[in-house]
Amino acid sequence: MRNTTSAISDEVIQRARLGKCTKEDAMSLLNVNPFELFSMADELRFEAVGDTVTYVINRNINFTNRCIGNCGFCAFRNNNGYRLTLEEIMEKVRGAAEVGSTEVCVQGGLLPDVNLDFYLEILESIKAEYPDMHIHAFSPMEVYYAALQSNIPVKDALEKLKQSGLDTMPGTAAEILSDRVRRVICPAKLKTAEWKNVVTLAHKTGIPTTATMMYGHIETIEERIDHILIVRDIQKETGGFTEFVPLPFMPYNNKIGEEVLKSGRFATTGVEDLQMHALIRVLLNTHVANVQASWVKLGKKLAQFALYCGANDLGGTLMEEKISKSAGAGHGEYMSPEEFEWMIRGSGRNPKQRNTLYHGV
Ligand code: SF4
Repeated sequence: MRNTTSAISDEVIQRARLGKCTKEDAMSLLNVNPFELFSMADELRFEAVGDTVTYVINRNINFTNRCIGNCGFCAFRNNNGYRLTLEEIMEKVRGAAEVGSTEVCVQGGLLPDVNLDFYLEILESIKAEYPDMHIHAFSPMEVYYAALQSNIPVKDALEKLKQSGLDTMPGTAAEILSDRVRRVICPAKLKTAEWKNVVTLAHKTGIPTTATMMYGHIETIEERIDHILIVRDIQKETGGFTEFVPLPFMPYNNKIGEEVLKSGRFATTGVEDLQMHALIRVLLNTHVANVQASWVKLGKKLAQFALYCGANDLGGTLMEEKISKSAGAGHGEYMSPEEFEWMIRGSGRNPKQRNTLYHGV
């Protein structure tokens, strides 16, 4: 796995192979030459999933940007903003189906006048017209909020959502799973234990989720590592995570970003982004097989390079991406399947369109 001059010890490599790296191992891996870490992650990626690189044809549908939340990193919320009607949502689903999407990803702000029924109605309308469309929808925060608004336990809300057609959930609203950080960046959002609870219950209800981490704002390196290890612990219990999507913080047009910029940092560097993808591959080895490089956040070229640092998936075509764009991401709203295939072949890997659950990959 390494040449004799490597700074990564045999013990760390052994623990990585077994999926048992510790927090100290993680810290040490961030202190070696990044290319050693990239090469270790690349090898573990090859052992886990081979040379196939996947993408999904999907469409984002952000049904409203109005929100009662107060997340300091959010450039998407606008309380004079839009709210799609059910018919407008369906128009977008039809547009997605027409271009061969296998998934719609539905999320939005927290509206003051809705309860669980609002979310169920969206699911039922989509499934009535497109029973085979995979619905990847509603963050743990939205599910938590819907249950609260309807005054029922989260577990019951999840069961109803599943019955109405919810296939999988985005593991968003995770930001950094540390209450110290959450108190500053998203004080009204669910706490770490509540996020863990919603996600664990979702998995146990038969609703797999992705895992995400938004890093590069006020958190420490230790807090990032703790976050990844929390995901690993949940995965050991439920096996319900399909992939891990590292999301570098976008510092523009938001309060937390202003502070970060004032301190002379411009969020994350490219090397740091690649180190995070590699570290996630190493820490989650044998637990979570898929690490996604988000082309929207990283840009297409860095996302391609991340395929040499542990990533094996490039996410979705999206068609419409509002959330990152509002916060300064400059990388378009749509990438065609042809461009994905070209980019993947250009990295020496084998492209493959996948479904949300990576079945048959
Ligand atoms: S991140 Fe989501 S919950 Fe927070 S303010 Fe923005 S839209 Fe609302």
